[in-house]
Formats: sequence, structure tokens, C-alpha cells
Amino acid sequence: MNLEIKQKILQKIKDYDRIFLFRHVRNDGDCVGSTKGMKELLKASFPEKEIYLIDQGTSAYLEFMGPEDAPVEEALYADALGIVLDTASEARISNANYKLCKELIKIDHHIPLENYGDLQWVEEDRSSCCELVVDFYETFRDELVLNSTAATHLYTGMVTDTGRFKYSGLCGNTMRAAGTLLDAGVNTDLLYARLYLEAYEYLKFKAYIYDKMQMTENGVAYLFVDKAMQEKFNLTLEQASACVGTMDSIRGCISWAVFIENGDAEGSIRVRLRSRFVHINTIAEKYRGGGHACASGATVYSLEEMQALLQDTDALVKEYKQTHEDWL
Ligand code: AMP
Repeated sequence: MNLEIKQKILQKIKDYDRIFLFRHVRNDGDCVGSTKGMKELLKASFPEKEIYLIDQGTSAYLEFMGPEDAPVEEALYADALGIVLDTASEARISNANYKLCKELIKIDHHIPLENYGDLQWVEEDRSSCCELVVDFYETFRDELVLNSTAATHLYTGMVTDTGRFKYSGLCGNTMRAAGTLLDAGVNTDLLYARLYLEAYEYLKFKAYIYDKMQMTENGVAYLFVDKAMQEKFNLTLEQASACVGTMDSIRGCISWAVFIENGDAEGSIRVRLRSRFVHINTIAEKYRGGGHACASGATVYSLEEMQALLQDTDALVKEYKQTHEDWL
């Protein structure tokens, strides 16, 4: 699929001696895995090229994936190719120097919010951006080299963005891509331990979540993780945000959300909205966000706005339940 665009991307990569890779702010396993995986793939395939991945750092739970490159002189961007992975809109690109690149390529799997760049390869039905990078490797496997480091980065992105190969969007291509990576050498025991072991204190917070979470009339589970709660359990914003996954297995509840008080002067509250079967991205888009059909993010600025978002989600869920079967 999309052979022509992939050929153009490979040609651009060949044309440039220097390439910068970019990803989105508030990084996650897929944007870190796809950028680091692409970097290793390009380094191993074209050792003579300079490949940079410059960012302010990786989320704490992904630090085991290794550091980024130190910033370089801005002048170096001018004759370079930029490749942005896993990022739907320009505003979310974490390193603003992408603008300085001579040419820019977008490779993404999000529902497109806007077009940017000189070349775009977007497949929104892919379960992760890493899957696209593996597809790229497989299309040109005679010319590209996939080592176990690249494979492990890409596998990490696939595991995290698919919820350990569980979320909808998974298909044969996903599993075939995962197979290609396993063949290249991924230590899955170590990877799963790094990603999923939890601290004793965090499990105590989980118990608290189950106690405090609430449910709207039609079954949208939610929790407001205010500053007091974050302080009580000594949580970073990142740890507080991670709790969205704890509400994903409630029978009758096909959408769930966490609201994390950021503690800034504007009173912003990060929203992480998830669902099964029903698509919630339009709700996120209404509240300054976006993302995927069943996994989106947004921002609200008051408890009233939080309630409004919940009401909108509740109405959507109600309508879905009335018009569909086979949701549980
Ligand atoms: P999160 O809950 O932050 O993990 O977001 C879920 C998905 O939605 C991820 O793929 C994010 O990249 C995407 N997303 C989150 N916030 C936004 C936003 N403001 N605009 C567009 N996409 C977003």
C-alpha cells in the first residue's frame, strides 16, 4: 500500500546527508519508539549519514529507551531533511527547529487534523506509527538494515500504542510487523518488566482510584485527579495521567476519562479520553484536542467544562448503546 509515497520518502532519505527526526510533545511509547527506531534503522542502513533526534527528553517511564541527541547549531538544519513521526499537527511537534529543515516529511497514523510538510504518508487505520516504520523497512528490506536495537524500539511503540496488542485497530499487518521485529531480536521479558512493573505506592493509588471513580448516567467512568490527590500519593503529572488505563475493563462502560489538574496559572486540566466500540475523537476535538477514534486527548479549563465534556460523552454513549448491539 502507498508504494509510490514510500519510494519518494526513501529517495529523499538517500538525497540528504543529514536528517533530523521529530515527534510530538508529551511523548509516549509510539512517538519515542518510532523516532528512535527510525534513527537506528537509518543509521544501520546509511552509516555515512548524520541522523539526529533532538528533544527535551523522554518521559520517565520511557527513559530506559536511552537519551536523545544534544542540541546542534541551528545552521545545520538548513540543508537537512526533517521527518516528523506520529504527530498530527505542527503545533504538537516538540522541537520547533523542524521549521528550519529544507524539506519535511510527515509519517503518521492519527486522524489528520491538518496537512503539513512536503510529503505526507498518513494511514490512520494503522495501530501505531511504529507499524508504519516496520512497513517501510519491509518494503525496502533489500536496502535497509533492521538490527535488534531498532526492532526493540519499534516493538516498544507497538506494545504501548496497542495496549499490549489489545486495542481495536489491530489486524494481521500489526501481528506480521510484530513478527518481523521479534525475528530481529527483541527481549520481551525485559521489555515487559521495564514497561509494566508497578511500584507498591502506585498500587495503593490504584486502589484509591477504584474507590473514588464515578460513573455518568449512561456509563462513562471518570476520575478527577486534582492537585490534592497528586500530592497525597506524591505523583508526578505523568504518573497521575497513567491511571486512565485502570478504568478500561468495566462491564457496561464503553468510554472512560481521567482529568488531571495541571496546576498552572490558567487552571488547565488535561483530559485523557478512551473508549471501546464508540468513537470519541469528535468530543476531544470539541475541547481543544484530537487523537484516535478510541483514544484521544483534550484540555479543559474549569470543572464546568469538565462536566460539559462528560455530558457530551454521556450523550454519545447513550446514543451508541441505543442504536448498536454487542457492546458489553
Ligand atoms: P493521550 O491521552 O494524551 O495519550 O492522547 C491520546 C491520543 O490522542 C494520542 O495519540 C495523542 O497523540 C493524541 N492527542 C492527545 N492530545 C491531543 C491534541 N491536543 N491534539 C491532537 N491529538 C492529541
